[in-house]
Amino acid sequence: MPKPSTQIKRLAFICAKCFTEKADKLAWFVGSTLFNESLLCRTCWQGQFNRLTEKERKEWSFYDN
Ligand SMILES: [Zn+2]
Repeated sequence: MPKPSTQIKRLAFICAKCFTEKADKLAWFVGSTLFNESLLCRTCWQGQFNRLTEKERKEWSFYDN
C-alpha cells in the first residue's frame, strides 16, 4: 500500500494554450482570439494580446492604471 500523501495538492492552474502547470501566474484572457475567456500563462497571454486589434488593446490598457 502506498503511503497516503500528506502534501496538499495545489489547485490546478493550467494554461489553456501550452498546458503548463508551472507558471507562477496565470491571467484571464478575454479577446477575439481562439483563447477568448481562457486562463493563460504570461507568455501565452502576451501572444494572444499581440493578436488583438488596436481598439481591443486599448480596452485592456484600462486595467494597467
Ligand atoms: Zn501558456
